[in-house]
Amino acid sequence: MLSEKMLAELNKQITAEIYSAYLYLSKSASLKNKNFGGMSHWFKAQWREELSHGLKLFDFVTSQGGLVELGSIEKPKQVWEIPLEAFSDALAHEKKVTGMINELVELSVQENDSVTQEMLKWFVKEQEEEEETASGVVEKIKNTNDIMELDNELGKRVFKD
Ligand code: MG
Repeated sequence: MLSEKMLAELNKQITAEIYSAYLYLSKSASLKNKNFGGMSHWFKAQWREELSHGLKLFDFVTSQGGLVELGSIEKPKQVWEIPLEAFSDALAHEKKVTGMINELVELSVQENDSVTQEMLKWFVKEQEEEEETASGVVEKIKNTNDIMELDNELGKRVFKD
C-alpha cells in the first residue's frame, strides 16, 4: 500500500508527465508553424510517449488502491524560434524530469516501499534514454549543414508505446 506522501508525490508526477506531453505538443505546433514538419511530427510522437508515461503511473497508483488526483496543467511556452532552441529546451526539461524520478526513488527507499521502487526502475531507464535521444538530436542539429534533411529524418520517427 502506498503511504500518503508517496501517493501525493506519484500524483504530482502523473501531472508532470502530462505537462511534458503538453509542452511537447506546443513544440510540435511551433515547429509546424516554422515549416519543420518532420520535427513537428517528432514532437507529436513525444507527446504520445509522455501521455503513456502518465498513464503508466496512473495504472500503478490505481492498482495499489490509491486515488489518482490530477493537478492543474500549466500553460506551456508557445514559440521556439529555431529547432536548436526547441530541442535544447527539451533536453533541459528531460534532465529536470530525471531529477523528479530520482526524488521518487529516494522516497521509496526511505519508506522501504519495494513495490514502488521496482516500478520506478522502468522510469529510471526511460529517463536515461530520453536524455540520450534529446542530446543526440541537439548534436545533430549543431552538426548538420542541411537542416531540412535532418527534418526529413526526424519525420520518420515511429511512436512506440
Ligand atoms: Mg516522461
